[in-house]
Amino acid sequence: MIFRILICFLMLLTLHGCGGRPVVVSNLPMGIPLADVCDRYHVTWQWDGVTQVVLMEYKGNTSKALVGSSTVLIGKQQIILSAPLRREKSTIYVPQDFEAKVLAPFGVPIGGGLSSIVSSSRVHTIVIDAGHGGKDRGTIAPFGIDEKEIVLDIAKRLRQLLESAGIKVIMTRDSDNFIPLPERTIIASHSGADLFVSIHVNSNHDHSVEGLLVYYLDSISRKDLIEEQRKENAHIYLKSLSANDSTILQAIVADMMDTLKAPQSLKLAKLIVREARDRSGIKVRGDGIRFCRFFVVRNTLMPAVLVETGFLSNRQEHNKLISSLYRQKLAEVIARGVLDYANE
Ligand SMILES: [Zn+2]
Repeated sequence: MIFRILICFLMLLTLHGCGGRPVVVSNLPMGIPLADVCDRYHVTWQWDGVTQVVLMEYKGNTSKALVGSSTVLIGKQQIILSAPLRREKSTIYVPQDFEAKVLAPFGVPIGGGLSSIVSSSRVHTIVIDAGHGGKDRGTIAPFGIDEKEIVLDIAKRLRQLLESAGIKVIMTRDSDNFIPLPERTIIASHSGADLFVSIHVNSNHDHSVEGLLVYYLDSISRKDLIEEQRKENAHIYLKSLSANDSTILQAIVADMMDTLKAPQSLKLAKLIVREARDRSGIKVRGDGIRFCRFFVVRNTLMPAVLVETGFLSNRQEHNKLISSLYRQKLAEVIARGVLDYANE
């Protein structure tokens, strides 16, 4: 907390400042000067030379961006630009899609032609995490097909669907391997992915319990933030997003990610449930959404959900889950949920 107060204090002290640390500039095209774009649309903006944070304001709406990063926050909404903001001397450059992606949702009227630039989705890369594997069989089915096999099959089907939709997919495992939980979150953090989806199969001592459930972390507690694995992952993930390695910058971006994680994860969870229940006739348990504190969900920085696709302990659902047609249907439900999220 003290550290964050210090950051705020530093930001206040240095707004309007231009004496920040040099930013690595590669020979990529620089883009459009931010000052020109903001002037054109009467957006007020400030750049903090120490933290490299850019604050923009338009009619009471605020937006935050970071030089060196392609992530922009509009309120709690996260926008991913096609390239990071860059700086040369005291000029900040934004990529071509900045006007349409950032200023339009910001409520700024955009002139003709610019909106055609937007074609992109909010999801470029996703991590698919097939639960268990190897010596960890997960839920053991009475007739021989274990959770680890079912979820790997769904994960592979999901990978194929998302890749054919143009999304880059990273798998935490794509064979019958045992991958410890911390390693799964490290893989996710190195990927710089926009989403993390873990796939499991449920079980209950009450064999009548059935239905798909999507779990997410509803809030990040102080205890979560100081968890060693999360701290390590934050460092890895933020490095994967940005060329900057200042700890102050990392703390600010981590703050941005923390703010986004719960609402964005919930959004994805709801879209998967909607696809399952309303569009695919998949049995959903209750409202289909549950809070959780599962390791892989709380120790990943990006929005994350864990889909419990059904109960192996329920005879009817077991019979469905051992059918490849049903597993394909589940993969399609999750894929459509992800694409709905990406295109919203
Ligand atoms: Zn499981």
